[in-house]
Amino acid sequence: MSKKNTIDLDFDRQHIWHPYTSMTQPIPVYPVTHANHNIIHLETGEQLIDGMASWWSAIHGYNHPVINNAMVEQINSMSHIMFGGITHNSAVELCKKIVNITPPSLTKVFLADSGSVSVEVAIKMALQYWLSQGITTKQKLMTPYKGYHGDTFAAMSVCDPVNSMHSLYSGFLPEHIFVPAPVSKFGSQFNQAEALELEEYFKAHHSQVAAFIIEPIVQNAGGMNFYHPDYLACARKLCTQYNVLLICDEIATGFGRTGKLFAVEHANIEPDIMCIGKALTGGSMTLSATITSDKIAIGISEGEAGVLMHGPTFMGNPLACAAACASIDLLLEQNWQQRIKQLNTQLQQLNKCSELDDVADVRTLGAIGVVELTDKAGNVNVAKIQAYFVEQGVWIRPFGKLIYLMPPYISDDASIKTLCDAIYNAIEGKHYV
Ligand SMILES: *Cc1c(COP(=O)(O)O)cnc(C)c1O
Repeated sequence: MSKKNTIDLDFDRQHIWHPYTSMTQPIPVYPVTHANHNIIHLETGEQLIDGMASWWSAIHGYNHPVINNAMVEQINSMSHIMFGGITHNSAVELCKKIVNITPPSLTKVFLADSGSVSVEVAIKMALQYWLSQGITTKQKLMTPYKGYHGDTFAAMSVCDPVNSMHSLYSGFLPEHIFVPAPVSKFGSQFNQAEALELEEYFKAHHSQVAAFIIEPIVQNAGGMNFYHPDYLACARKLCTQYNVLLICDEIATGFGRTGKLFAVEHANIEPDIMCIGKALTGGSMTLSATITSDKIAIGISEGEAGVLMHGPTFMGNPLACAAACASIDLLLEQNWQQRIKQLNTQLQQLNKCSELDDVADVRTLGAIGVVELTDKAGNVNVAKIQAYFVEQGVWIRPFGKLIYLMPPYISDDASIKTLCDAIYNAIEGKHYV
């Protein structure tokens, strides 16, 4: 029996790279025909409850009519136009919103096409700023271990050296200064020894360091570490004291995910440069932004180059900007704080996983839930556990020893329960081995 619209999995396997996979031993991919609300529809007929929000991005779920309508309206006027020498309403309205919702000192917006690129731009801003001040020694970055900032080279150079396999690119990758990852947990006591240790690094290296780059409050792809806001506050203080810029990478944490609109708010600090992406368009289009202060922007603009040396072809893409405007409005129009709180309460059903021998830790923050397996249990067999999850009607994609949920904000209680139960059953039944 021939079926309409069959997705050619054989071609896919032969010719198409997927994220972080081998071309000869790829793990299976599941053919999706459409997604709606928090449900992913497979071509094979299964319906999966989404636990991943497409890597932090689809906060309003899929196929949201308000975002769709905004995009259709934009397509009907223009889906793209160059940003060099031209501006348009969707970009202007979006940047107004961004300036409004991010920390008050951040006033200048650079629109880029992906999170990694916004990190590249942030790094360029920092380097160009110090050059503009006549300081030529600040050529390095400082960053904690366990960070993740993207896959392009400059971004990769500040990712955890082990997770991002720096050794593969040694000799090519710039070498930066790594400091210990934050240890004190969110919600527990802050250990002052961490502050003192961090200060030693600033003391020793500040004359070479252009910027300290960190994911605020949650180190995401590098280990789902929820750390104490005092660590971030301390980093802010040391940056100011030692003339180092602070870059906060809010690409994963932004737009409410941790319970605050931006995670920097947990520590009541303002970075010099901030990157946002992922949920910016509600997961509908790729778009990111790097936002900085008057001081940095004016410095760069009055420096030797006189301009910021960056300008992607699809900068300020109108379609993405229109989607982002709609997504931000959707978020702010609702009592999102209450929504995130309720999701957090539901995600605490993961706590029962603590009773399983293979579980080292269970933690939740905002709309993020994490189950970490013990070293003895080892890394998850992703292909195997994913097959089990699909059988259970859920979409969850673990990495390493971490099985985690970051569901769309529109997920109902029953969906979260199903997701939490699936994780418990997968570990109890050892479906990850
Ligand atoms: C995903 C992510 C990036 C990279 O964004 P891309 O859009 O994948 O390039 C950078 N930083 C953090 C914290 C991220 O989670």
